[in-house]
Amino acid sequence: MANAVRWWEMRPAQSRQPKTYVCPICHGPLLAMAPNTLLFPEGDRERRRHAHTACVARQRKAGLLPTKAEWERSLRPAGAERRPWWRRLFGSRRPG
Ligand SMILES: [Zn+2]
Repeated sequence: MANAVRWWEMRPAQSRQPKTYVCPICHGPLLAMAPNTLLFPEGDRERRRHAHTACVARQRKAGLLPTKAEWERSLRPAGAERRPWWRRLFGSRRPG
């Protein structure tokens, strides 16, 4: 898989056409008529790829193929997520 892709959009797919694709993850054959997963690199419909749903699940489990929301979360400083909203608004120190 291309390393330049920062995040992936993915959705379940299944076709009525008796086509065969090559899974970009395991490079094995993938039947379009079987349930599979469509991958859009950074949401790009032109570069969509059909992948085995099991392969996508395995990659996701390994921390690969982040979604846009996961990628955006990873850009934020560590710990920012766990602070309560009032701490973020007013800072962690209170006078007095
Ligand atoms: Zn595969």
